Amino acid sequence: MAQVTLDNLGKVYPGSRRHAPVRALDSLSLDAADGEYLVLVGPSGCGKTTALRLIAGLEDPTSGSIRIAGQAAESLSPAGRDVAMVFQSYSLYPHMTAYENMAFAPRLRGEPRRDIDARVREAARALGVEDALHRRPGQLSGGQCQRIALARCLVRRPRALLLDEPLSNLDAPLRAAARADLKALHRRDPTTTLHVTHDQGEAMALGDRVAVMSPARLEQAGTPMSLHREPASRFVAGFIGTPAMSFVEGRLERAGGLWFVESGEGGARLAIPAGHEGRFEGAVGPPVVLGFRARVPADGVPDAARMPLSFLVRTVEPLGDDAEVRGETGAGSPIVARVPAWEGVAPGRSLMVEVDPRAAHLFEPGPFGRRLTGGSP
Ligand code: ATP
Repeated sequence: MAQVTLDNLGKVYPGSRRHAPVRALDSLSLDAADGEYLVLVGPSGCGKTTALRLIAGLEDPTSGSIRIAGQAAESLSPAGRDVAMVFQSYSLYPHMTAYENMAFAPRLRGEPRRDIDARVREAARALGVEDALHRRPGQLSGGQCQRIALARCLVRRPRALLLDEPLSNLDAPLRAAARADLKALHRRDPTTTLHVTHDQGEAMALGDRVAVMSPARLEQAGTPMSLHREPASRFVAGFIGTPAMSFVEGRLERAGGLWFVESGEGGARLAIPAGHEGRFEGAVGPPVVLGFRARVPADGVPDAARMPLSFLVRTVEPLGDDAEVRGETGAGSPIVARVPAWEGVAPGRSLMVEVDPRAAHLFEPGPFGRRLTGGSP
């Protein structure tokens, strides 16, 4: 096992006569502790795969450095780094059976056959692909190939595991099962793992810590709950958690009590309840963005300690007991709310939601605005 440290890592893919150079990764500093399961999550193109390819030694960084178990990675060949990577494209040898694919690396290293056999069968059992061991990749489904590729890495027992969207080809029930399997496997054998995904639910379910990347930078790295409760920026707040946060632009004003006043004609006015003003009043004056997860009280009775906000319903997506309801305020701010008793909720009607001041945040304006104040008391 090994600690993996990235220090100001950058990668620019050189341009050509027809293409400009691409800055794929910009000064990424991040640390995966020995035995930690670290998930890198972010939108497509923010450089997640590039980071893994640099750690694996498949690309050379343009700037910065990587250390694996305290050793400078530049001094190690890709094989000498002893990291195993699961690619989005699986990269299984097509002429070998699943078993042979999984046993390939330890056989090359001359490890005892019986030991290899036990590890192959254990990994296959853990990932539910025992029945596929005698088949070649061409005779397997995409989901089975993905699990064989993952099992192959586990059999290698590397110092660190690099997983690039390892569950992306599984259907929803298999994906949920594979998440649970991965978590249990890691608990049993805590290999340092860097897992890349664009699915925030997967990140929250699996990560000891989650690193949220935006196209601009590493926004925040922390435990799933710290990202949820204390997002460092509007980008993190909008990316993490279900339902997503709603954001309303406006200003904090002091008029008797403290008020959040939405920008635009007909903007809502939310009174910050007494006892919560302290966390917000530092932001009185300049334009700010209020971020919150809108809720409707299950019993329909508004809570005096929360801020009521009404919006016009546009769409209702039933989820079962709850529904996800989207719409907009009178001044046009988009709102998404999780609604428990949603039978009477319909497009064209207005709905009252509550904003809990304890879980509301203020951000600087703009999509990457830093959190100013608010959050946990
Ligand atoms: P996704 O979730 O879609 O896989 P990602 O966050 O993993 O995205 P990367 O694959 O690391 O992103 O790509 C980052 C940027 O670098 C993208 O703009 C991509 O087009 C570019 N890029 C990646 N590989 C190369 C390459 N070999 N040559 C030129 N540009 C590249």
